[in-house]
Amino acid sequence: MTTLRDAGKTGHARYTYRLRPSSTARAALLAEWDRCRWVWNQCVATSRAAHTARQECGPVRLDKMLTGWRGDHDWLRAGASVPQQQTIRDFAKSRAKALKDITARLPMRQRAGMPRFKNKDRAAPTLNYTRRGFRLAGGRLHLAGGIILTVVWSRDLPADLSSVRVYRDSPGHWYVSFVVPARSEPLPETGRAIGVDWGVKEVATTTSDAHDLPHPRCGRTAAARLARYQKMMARRKPSKGKPASKGYRKAARLAARLHKKVARQRQDTARKWAKKVVRDFDVLAVEDFKPKFLATSTMARKAADAAIGATKTALIEMARKHRRDLHLVHPAHTTMDCARCGARAEHALPLSERTYTCTACGASSPRDKNSARVMLVRAGLDPAGVDRGRPDVPPGRQAA
Ligand SMILES: [Zn+2]
Repeated sequence: MTTLRDAGKTGHARYTYRLRPSSTARAALLAEWDRCRWVWNQCVATSRAAHTARQECGPVRLDKMLTGWRGDHDWLRAGASVPQQQTIRDFAKSRAKALKDITARLPMRQRAGMPRFKNKDRAAPTLNYTRRGFRLAGGRLHLAGGIILTVVWSRDLPADLSSVRVYRDSPGHWYVSFVVPARSEPLPETGRAIGVDWGVKEVATTTSDAHDLPHPRCGRTAAARLARYQKMMARRKPSKGKPASKGYRKAARLAARLHKKVARQRQDTARKWAKKVVRDFDVLAVEDFKPKFLATSTMARKAADAAIGATKTALIEMARKHRRDLHLVHPAHTTMDCARCGARAEHALPLSERTYTCTACGASSPRDKNSARVMLVRAGLDPAGVDRGRPDVPPGRQAA
């Protein structure tokens, strides 16, 4: 079990806004991206050659090489140096991570993998600027190299900006994402605790009936439409080495747009719910759910996993921001234990069985409500008094 009470003290938050770049600005961003992509690919080639020759290829060497490349090529020097230096730094970071995973002898599929060449058609444009590479003036974002961008200020931006990322998403929209120090905003104490269980039927079942979160109905229709686009893409998939057909690109664009829309709705619902939970409770005992992305998962299961993932993240972030005490509880056996007496059922309940009945103490309650109460017990809290205020809970043996 992990406690996240003080984890947010040194954290960072991202504030993201939509950009409305003029055609001039868009062309300038893409030209910067072409140069940064070239720098990245040079880094890949250099580090591969260094690896073969058993030479060191750290950020210092690459930084020096950038100076050389800029001296040799006028077109590279025509671009701002800040995003190119950031490219080197990002490359060094991802290379170091890959090397660390190799040293740690992680299984192949868990390793980060060495940085690879970025393909012009497949890699999404991303430019990073440190504090000296951008400024805000007259409500617009000025990037090094004289690129001026119109920002849609959908919410207030805090001061103390440390860096900025400008990127284009798969449906083709441009965004800017500012990094700011995470602020903590303590809320008044409530003296109450809540247990949260994630599931396929409801996104969250909690020890408080007023805080349960059902799966959104729109999620199912969106999942069906997404499945249709994916089938269209599979049918129109270009053969290896051939350019994608118009029909394939259209289906891919529709799928990307829908994906984005669903993710946004999901995040919006998750944040609103998390805000409510964090406002009403000081202590949160939350199932540490980890989705298993199985190839055999149904569309409904995948959609449910994605909704749970987004909601769990939102709850953790919200608890951190408002300095609430959040315990992550290991999910093993949470559906088999009795929240009232702690006895463990001999067999896991089939998913179709919606009621948990304890063979030891005879307590009977909806399956997910029992699991939510088990979260509280596991976090060392007393589910009685939290839920319906049952004072008659025997001091039975508690699950570890
Ligand atoms: Zn029991």
